[in-house]
Parts: sequence; structure tokens; C-alpha cells
Amino acid sequence: MGKLLRHAQENKYAVGYFESWNLESLLAVKDAAEQAGSPAIIGFNGGFLGNSKRKVAESIRIYGALGRAVAENARVPMSLILNEATEVSLLMEALEAGFKVIMHDNEGGGLSESIRINTAIVRAAHGVGAEVEAEIGELPTAEIGGALASPGEKTDPDEAARFVRETGVDALAVAIGNVHVLEGRKSRLDFDLLAELRQKVTAPLVLHGGTGIDEAELRKAIHAGICKINVGTVLRRKFINSLKGYYQTHDVDLLDPGAVTSVGGDVDMLVGARAEIAAEIVRLMRVFGSERQAASIG
Ligand SMILES: [Zn+2]
Repeated sequence: MGKLLRHAQENKYAVGYFESWNLESLLAVKDAAEQAGSPAIIGFNGGFLGNSKRKVAESIRIYGALGRAVAENARVPMSLILNEATEVSLLMEALEAGFKVIMHDNEGGGLSESIRINTAIVRAAHGVGAEVEAEIGELPTAEIGGALASPGEKTDPDEAARFVRETGVDALAVAIGNVHVLEGRKSRLDFDLLAELRQKVTAPLVLHGGTGIDEAELRKAIHAGICKINVGTVLRRKFINSLKGYYQTHDVDLLDPGAVTSVGGDVDMLVGARAEIAAEIVRLMRVFGSERQAASIG
């Protein structure tokens, strides 16, 4: 990831992290990246995969193997992240499973606690040639309908600088008005704060909550030094809407189950969903400026 982010910074664009939740959504990122000639960061959300409410406990090793295979077989450069896991043990397992970047979600923890945890995570990750992203401050999370479920806390530039210096993290996610899971309206970014962060923090800066930021603000944020943008919600929404549309236009009782789920042809519901996710990612890669950048990454 470090190599991708350095190239992005030098060439004034951002690499997208397009979060996946299953095989189709993972392959959609590969489809999009190859079509756009763009680097990409692929991966899964540790908070979801490791969620205690899951009916079946998932093995991070299976997801790591899937992600690694996709990254290794892609015709463009890719890195593999386990994003936002609350359990440190899951992050350690992720390193063994082949994830190249890990990120701890330190919900509600203070700065010194966060420094302590991330220092240990960085030591473990760097020991096996992997990298660490972390967040200082806290993004608000939106409810369906756009109201905020939590107010969040903007990133303090001096705290962020100290955090990066003491932990040695490889990338820093910042809270500058961006909101997690925001649909239907757009957040307003604090560009004065971003400028101060860029000036004080040595690590590459990451913007989560990409779904809820309008294109002009995304471009402006990239120009101001953001070089990784996380996108998840809009991809999940595309997937859901594609399946919803499928049921409205197909009578599945009259179709061969293989054709609906497995053959990969015109009436395969997963083909349509994958294509709709990929189309949205290609659109975002253009906004991020990462289109056609893959060829010049050494
Ligand atoms: Zn996030």
C-alpha cells in the first residue's frame, strides 16, 4: 500500500479502497480496476467479519486467501486490507492470513490507549512486511435517512502528529467532517483542518466515508493531500438495488436455478450485481484520478 500511496501523492490522485463482503463484490473491484487501468485497495471489514452477531463465525483465513488470490492475479497493482477490526487478535490472524494492511478500530479509546495498541500492532505488522492504517478522531456514523447516530470527533492535528510519530503507522485516517454510512445527503469537509493536518502529519492521509462526499469536495480533498479514499456503503447499495431490480423483472420460479445463480449469463442475478458494483467503482476511479495510473507504477 505504501508504494501505491506514494505514487498517488506524487501524481496528485487518490487510490480507492473499495470494501467487499463476498466473492462477487471482491471480483467487481478487480473487474473495475482492470477496466480503468487503476491501482486499487481491496479487502474486507473486520468489524463485520468478526461481528459477534454473525450466525456463522467466519474464518479470516478464507477471506485472506480469496483476497490474496485476487490481488496476485490482477493485471493492476493491488493491496489487501483488513479494515476496522475491533479485536487485536483478529488483526494478528489477518497478518497470518496474508492481509498486507491492517487497521484497528479503537472505538471510544483515548489517545494514549490508541498509541499503546497501535505501537504493538505496527511492530507485529512491520515484522512480517505488512502495514498499518489507524484513525485519530472519530467519524460520525449516519443512520438510514441521514441523521447522525453518533456525533464523532474531528481529528486534532497535534494529537495526530504525535500519534504518527510515536506509533510509526503507515497511513492515517482523519475525521474532517466526513461521515460513515451517509446516503442521500453529503457531508461538508473542513478544508482548513485538512491543510493543517497535511502540514503537521508525515503519514499519508486517508478519507473514510467516501459515499457521503460529493465529487467536487473529493477532488478538492485529493488536491489538499488525501491519497486514499474508502468506499463501502454505495457499493452495498448498488448490490442490494441490483438484486431488488432483478426480482422485479424476472420470475425466478420459471427459471433454472443454475441460470439464475451459477452460469454467469444474461439471467444470472450475480452477474448483474457484480457489473453494477464495478460500474460505480470505475466512475469513482475517474473522480479519484486513479484511472490509467496503473501502468506508471513501477
Ligand atoms: Zn471507515
